[in-house]
Amino acid sequence: MRDDDEDKDTDEDLDEDFPSGDGTADGEAVITCPHCGESIEIVLDAGSGSRQDYVEDCEVCCRPWRVSVHYQADGSADVQVTSLDE
Ligand SMILES: [Zn+2]
Repeated sequence: MRDDDEDKDTDEDLDEDFPSGDGTADGEAVITCPHCGESIEIVLDAGSGSRQDYVEDCEVCCRPWRVSVHYQADGSADVQVTSLDE
């Protein structure tokens, strides 16, 4: 009789919840201003939810962006910045 002991799956429980606030979610991102083309590091608030949409002003040219943040299940942030002007 052979004893097959391959039942040891390390199940990673990927909940709908993403790991906010425990240090694994991205806390910042570098984006490119759609107005002036500068690369700017922005601070993200992982505690505000996995999908965020807000308006922020460019610190270089002071024009507004629409920032869309989408956190992946592994805590990495997908950040898109578009011009608010149109
Ligand atoms: Zn700018």
